[in-house]
Amino acid sequence: MFQVPRGTRDFTPEEMEKRRYIERNMTSTFLSFGYGEIQTPTFENIELFTSKSGEAILNEIYNFTDKGGRELALRPELTAPVIRCYIERLQMEPKPLKLFYFGNCYRYDRPQKGRYREFRQAGCEIIGVDTTEAIAELLALAFSILKNVGLKNVRINIGNLTIISMIFKRLNLLKDDQKRLLPLIDKSQFDDLKVSLRDCGVSEKDAEQFICVLQTSEVNEIRSFIADDPDAIKELSIIETVIGLLKNAFHITESDIKLSIVRGLDYYKGLVFEIDAPVLGAEKQLCGGGSYDLVTLFGGSEVPTSGFAIGFDRTILALEAEGFVFPPSKLDVFIIPVNQDMIPMSIDIARQLRDKGISVDFDLLRRGMGKSFKYADAKHAEKVIIVGPKELEKNTVTLRDMKTGNQEIVTVSEIFTKLKKP
Ligand code: AMP
Repeated sequence: MFQVPRGTRDFTPEEMEKRRYIERNMTSTFLSFGYGEIQTPTFENIELFTSKSGEAILNEIYNFTDKGGRELALRPELTAPVIRCYIERLQMEPKPLKLFYFGNCYRYDRPQKGRYREFRQAGCEIIGVDTTEAIAELLALAFSILKNVGLKNVRINIGNLTIISMIFKRLNLLKDDQKRLLPLIDKSQFDDLKVSLRDCGVSEKDAEQFICVLQTSEVNEIRSFIADDPDAIKELSIIETVIGLLKNAFHITESDIKLSIVRGLDYYKGLVFEIDAPVLGAEKQLCGGGSYDLVTLFGGSEVPTSGFAIGFDRTILALEAEGFVFPPSKLDVFIIPVNQDMIPMSIDIARQLRDKGISVDFDLLRRGMGKSFKYADAKHAEKVIIVGPKELEKNTVTLRDMKTGNQEIVTVSEIFTKLKKP
């Protein structure tokens, strides 16, 4: 009768186990890079998102008026909320401030595989530093998170918006033209870009060269195209240093320069990057980030900021597409009382084991032995404890290993040592 709303999904216990596994793994990588977790509300005052992106963003987000007449929006991303929180509460913290988060985001997107209206992001912001080593570490963190969860093939592409705007200026492109051209570059629609450049008065030769430079990973080719602009050359050498640090110090060789990376969101500036999982095809972008400017717009004191967001759902899709085997769900113990008189003792054993951190389930349906074993098997129980009157007289139970089928009689106190987690 009822179905999930378009673009949203339910997650079954089996799916949630995968998601929590990935989330725990990602959390430990964030922590290992010295980041602290932050959480912000699911909805925010709408100005938080319109102040930089303008009213046009209203077409892409879920917004509503609450009963008090407040204009609110479900967050489409977490950078603006985290920066709002930083300005409200964290400006005096020692720098650099490293914050990470997990949170559901909401966008009025056209749903397809890897694109949802409710999706989860894992991300971070680093505030108060813009050295090349800080940027390299940020990229290394994004890459390590994706590698540590088990992805085999991911690639970093690094762009730079300062270089792009310098080229725009040289090609005499007006601000309005740039707004029209950037989405074409972002989506790698180079044929359309060529036509649009021509419409904007750019010569055929300049347009062709520009499009080549957008796609090449050859630093020398880019350098010769921007050679007459010292600021652009400086930005290019920053990218080279970052790639060098990634390679030589972080031991990450899968990064390239690619100026066609310009990012969709409006607040980025300078270095930007994306990480792709080629296995996903069209929706292959797993991560996007870079340096941006929101703090002063939101009324804070000027400070450098960078960050990234990883699409949590796409990471799982990419793992599945690469054939990743998630650890199977398991239950440490299933307890079967042989008859109803054994129920209190079974509960007592369950309680003691649970107190020791062992996962325990027991037959709540008063089923016979055969059906209980079937259920224990379906729940991937490692061991089964059978509580029977004869054994219990001697304060013992039967302990069965579900993998080997071996059974032994053990005393109740022995159970704990037998089941002790490694
Ligand atoms: P963005 O905030 O647009 O830079 O997105 C960061 C990451 O979130 C992207 O690289 C995607 O992996 C993921 N993402 C963005 N939009 C969606 C969506 N509608 N559904 C699923 N994942 C998304």
